[in-house]
Amino acid sequence: MRLDKFLANAGIGTRKEVKKFLKKNLVSVNEEIVKKPEMHINPEEDVITFDDIPIEYEPVVYLMMNKPAGYISATEDDEHETVIDIVPEYMHLDLFPVGRLDKDTEGLLLLTNDGKFSHQLMSPKHKVPKKYYVEVDGHISENATEIFKKGIDLGDFTSSPSELEIIENDESSKAFVTIYEGKFHQVKRMFQSIGCEVTYLKRIQIADLELDELLELGEYRHLMEEDFKLLN
Ligand code: URA
Repeated sequence: MRLDKFLANAGIGTRKEVKKFLKKNLVSVNEEIVKKPEMHINPEEDVITFDDIPIEYEPVVYLMMNKPAGYISATEDDEHETVIDIVPEYMHLDLFPVGRLDKDTEGLLLLTNDGKFSHQLMSPKHKVPKKYYVEVDGHISENATEIFKKGIDLGDFTSSPSELEIIENDESSKAFVTIYEGKFHQVKRMFQSIGCEVTYLKRIQIADLELDELLELGEYRHLMEEDFKLLN
């Protein structure tokens, strides 16, 4: 990896700033002052210091967040805050959300800078189950479970057979639903197709990984070894 990229990824500064630091003799590789931004280093073996302090490098990051409503699942947005704004200390590592939750949706969102990991979980081909807790206006019809199980034609695609588990059925109702894609407004559109407006949506599980109950809205933590097993 290029030295300037390593330094930028480690949060030392932008590539431009990093060049200036190099010129000022602030960077050493294995105890030798280095000035060349293009120098190739091995982050796992070389000892790199900035201003005499060794740099701890976090090459890939995997976070579990309890996403609050009001944040866009994107890396940038002109109008609204994004989920990346919730993790400013990781800004330099170019994290992105694994899939999208709507602005008003809460719950389990993974953030990473590992494109392959994200693709594995989100590619429609892999059909990774995603479970949501849903509140809707109105009564969920008796045959909704069957309709969801058959798959619903939503115009641009037909959903895979999904599981609907009704928790409470009244003037407003509550349910769990598990879907196998992550299309735009998918859960909301599926409920609309049976005449119900979603009033609250929270993702609670991806594959076998459940949202950590200890995370309050807007809180996050690193994924641990057991979590990765639950995602496989
Ligand atoms: N389905 C939706 O409609 N919205 C989400 O945020 C996620 C799934």
